[in-house]
Amino acid sequence: MTGVDSFTTAVGVSGIWPAPPQFWSFSALEEVGTCPRRYALKRASYPELWDGQGYPERINESVLVGNIVHEAVETVLREFNRAGCSSLSEERAVDVLRCLGGYSKIATSALNKHLEKLSQNPRMLPQLDRLRQRLDRRLAEMRQSIKALVSQRPAVPQSPSTDTARTADPSGSARFGVGAHTEVTLIAKEARFIGRIDLLAVYPDYAAIVDFKTGARTDRHTRQLQLYGLLWLLDEAANPDHLPVASLALGYLNGSVAVELPDNWDVLQRELLEEISIADRLLRERHPPAVPTAECWHCPVRHLCDEYWQSAFVRREAQAIFTDAEVKVVKRNGPTSWVGTVGADNTEVLLRTTADDMVFPLGKSVRILDLVTGESEESDFLILTLTRSSEVFGPVRL
Ligand code: SF4
Repeated sequence: MTGVDSFTTAVGVSGIWPAPPQFWSFSALEEVGTCPRRYALKRASYPELWDGQGYPERINESVLVGNIVHEAVETVLREFNRAGCSSLSEERAVDVLRCLGGYSKIATSALNKHLEKLSQNPRMLPQLDRLRQRLDRRLAEMRQSIKALVSQRPAVPQSPSTDTARTADPSGSARFGVGAHTEVTLIAKEARFIGRIDLLAVYPDYAAIVDFKTGARTDRHTRQLQLYGLLWLLDEAANPDHLPVASLALGYLNGSVAVELPDNWDVLQRELLEEISIADRLLRERHPPAVPTAECWHCPVRHLCDEYWQSAFVRREAQAIFTDAEVKVVKRNGPTSWVGTVGADNTEVLLRTTADDMVFPLGKSVRILDLVTGESEESDFLILTLTRSSEVFGPVRL
């Protein structure tokens, strides 16, 4: 692949770098702030690999559970709004839940939808059956989480019409009138900032924003919600009457938490514009900079990032069960084991596979993610075992 925006990685994967987006979201800005290379590798296009957008995602089970719960909550709230429920204690709310088939069916539908999406993803396909079994076992837990989050919907004025969720199309000009609105996309055109709010409640003189979270509380949730408040103030089409934000709330599984309004919205806006300008500049660099840290372990594109493999962060602490390794394959040791070396000092390792049809290139290096580590009782070899979650990339050409 050639062209000024194209790149080739050491494991032979080629792509085209992404341009800065037309509109920045909170999570995109946060990701560029953490590691511009990670943002760029995730969103680059890989036409030789697949037709999908970005690099095929690798989603872990807990993230998936959170996404399923979140989507199911959105479905229930949307149907409450459609039915014109102002409070969950109304008879109508019970009818809505009955029509949806109850919380178990809602959870199952959301789960199936996510698994269907993952079946298009070449990176998730090999573990899809196992993932389905594990997720099936967590359905009761998901059902409880959906119920807990839905119960935190505040009482809101009844919508005059059906929900008016707007798509991310910046030409959209929906005005959000009095009532409850779910999955609301707000756009600050001049600031080039976009956000999707779980629940926007518009009252005659003010608005309230609620966002639902399945994980533990963090400071980033607070900042995200304050920026959503700013979005409401800046979105001229959605809020033409310039209604102020009266409250911000985060809904967690164990209850709702009020978030303080910023002392000064102008200061927050200036900080946002500065962040966007820095993110634009970083992404326009030929190779967006890589920032290796201990958090690289969670990076789904770390196999494409040479800076990670040259950093000390590839090595986990001695007690870690999982590790990544760039292994130079020396020889076959048996049907399911290979001798190799790792690191600059060529430490010998025994590489164990789960299947005897797995073949490694002799004399070449491969990058392997998520190996289980262990020590041999008979020899000094470090044992690296591939599991069904491990991924092999290479051979490496540096
Ligand atoms: S591995 Fe680390 S340094 Fe490399 S792209 Fe991922 S987060 Fe950035």
